[in-house]
Amino acid sequence: MSGERIAGLELAPLNLPMRRPFVTALGNKRISRNLLVRLRLEDGTVGIGEASASLAWPSETQAAMAAALRRLEGRLIGASILCFRRLAESAWEAAGEHPTAVGALECALMDAYTRTKGIPLWRFYGAKGRSVTTSLTISAWPGNQAARAASSAQAAGFRRLKVKVTGKNPDGDLRRIASVCEAAPQATLWVDGNQGFTVKEAIGFARLLRRHHFPIRLFEQPVAREDWDGLAQVQKEGGISVAADESARSVSEAGRLIRKRTVRILNIKLAKCGLLGAFKIVRLARRAGMKLMIGCMAESAVGLSASVQFACGTGVFDFVDLDSHLLVVSPPGVPGFETRGARLTVHPTRPGCGAEIASSFRSSQ
Ligand SMILES: [Mg+2]
Repeated sequence: MSGERIAGLELAPLNLPMRRPFVTALGNKRISRNLLVRLRLEDGTVGIGEASASLAWPSETQAAMAAALRRLEGRLIGASILCFRRLAESAWEAAGEHPTAVGALECALMDAYTRTKGIPLWRFYGAKGRSVTTSLTISAWPGNQAARAASSAQAAGFRRLKVKVTGKNPDGDLRRIASVCEAAPQATLWVDGNQGFTVKEAIGFARLLRRHHFPIRLFEQPVAREDWDGLAQVQKEGGISVAADESARSVSEAGRLIRKRTVRILNIKLAKCGLLGAFKIVRLARRAGMKLMIGCMAESAVGLSASVQFACGTGVFDFVDLDSHLLVVSPPGVPGFETRGARLTVHPTRPGCGAEIASSFRSSQ
């Protein structure tokens, strides 16, 4: 039993250059300053998690996330990994205002637990399948740049493209979407407003997209995260299914959106609610007949592995947006899944999240 006790919590900055500048309504990003979480057991087993920085969450710096987790260290060291659920719940209670950090710690706990049991996470979460098909994100770039990215994405096998729009420049947004449609005629599009629109602008834009008969499947977070009535209005009057992302930052927010039937789609991210929270939201949403999307922040292939394993294992996601490993440069190591074009496939037997960081890697700082 002693080997199952937690012996150490290691935190290391992970500074990941974006392969191309990432542009949304919230700003630009060239590097993602993430935090790698490693939970070491007495027998040498290591559970991995990764907390990603996000434009939507500027207060969650590496230092703030590390400090939040350091405060939890006392209750982790010496505890049995078999109590992973209680440990995760107590971490959420103590540091729930840092969901990305706690979400990563929870991934490390689950990873360590399933590794000691010798089972892959996708099996732990239901073993529904081993593959999912992801979208690829096109930043809010000028039309010609977006078109080049869309064309190579289509050639690589992507049939779902998520296009960032800003709301600040409707002509530019429309041109980008038209260019993407022309460059990738086989693709359907998801449009992500990242809170950049007013309610009136969002309804007008959604109607405009419909008038052009673009193959749009959803309009993600068009308005400010706290404007729930506005979100409901865009859903009602815009004519396109609305997905809540920034408005659904926690289990309780997701629960409220589900109860009020504010939107048709919920975007779940482990960086917002962790694995246990994600599972709770899945159950609530499915009972209410809502559609589910799984998204990510800017995790490397290491941090994204838990999300891919969760999506495969549960098999419940109608929209899979797990492409961050294609947008950032990952640290050396082995991801917990294989990427072939848009298809992500987890390893059949490798335990835990399946990811390993190269032993030569210490920290990118
Ligand atoms: Mg989003």
